[in-house]
Amino acid sequence: RLSQRLEAVANYIPKGYRLADIGSDHAYLPCYAVKNGMVPSAIAGEVVEGPYQSAKGQVAEEGLTDVIAVRKGDGLEVLSVGEVDVVTIAGMGGALIASILENGKTKLEKVQRLILQPNISAISIRTWLRNNGWELIAENMVEEDEKIYEILVAERGEVDKPYGNLQEGLLLGPFLMKEQPAPFKKKWQREMTNWKRILTQIEKAEKNAENVKKIEELQQKIRLVEGVVK
Ligand code: SAM
Repeated sequence: RLSQRLEAVANYIPKGYRLADIGSDHAYLPCYAVKNGMVPSAIAGEVVEGPYQSAKGQVAEEGLTDVIAVRKGDGLEVLSVGEVDVVTIAGMGGALIASILENGKTKLEKVQRLILQPNISAISIRTWLRNNGWELIAENMVEEDEKIYEILVAERGEVDKPYGNLQEGLLLGPFLMKEQPAPFKKKWQREMTNWKRILTQIEKAEKNAENVKKIEELQQKIRLVEGVVK
């Protein structure tokens, strides 16, 4: 069985698309997608030796070596142009996911869809997508073991289409903002509690220019989120 988090990622894989899962670790996602007939073939990319071996072991154990290639390398460098139709990158920070996309841009030329699951900082991904011709087409949020995960889905298109207020949308997610699922409220209430705690601390500290700036930034973020989260 796949974790709820990875199942939520898998839900956005279009049937019949060739898949690359980057930072695959145990290759659970590609194994699941192939075994369930969602995709005809897959590539699992891993940069670290241990997880790379785990991925190879898992694919062999499931008898899928003919249809899943496990490749060792940094980000999208394990792919050739036109080899896959959908790329998943899950379980990392948003800034790392954005840097993998940025460094491997040329490999995305024929890719139709990106499914990205940042553990933190989804804003980095939304910003990258918008700057690189990818239109955000769906978002989801799942809660598992007290952790809250975001899933972002993008295809090439009109980068500004989903956004109303850009600042709010990039931080909170335009689809999530509209739907406000339960984990969304929980996540941002948690964040705000955290920001307010930090704010109180800085307000007690020395009133230098740096702290004044930090206070203003935090107050602005709190106002922004309070204005959106119901
Ligand atoms: N994608 C799986 C999931 O969501 O359960 C595994 C997540 S695991 C926390 C992150 C994996 O990404 C690690 O195995 C790590 O080695 C790999 N990774 C990190 N940076 C990478 C990069 N630049 N290229 C390929 N893999 C990378």
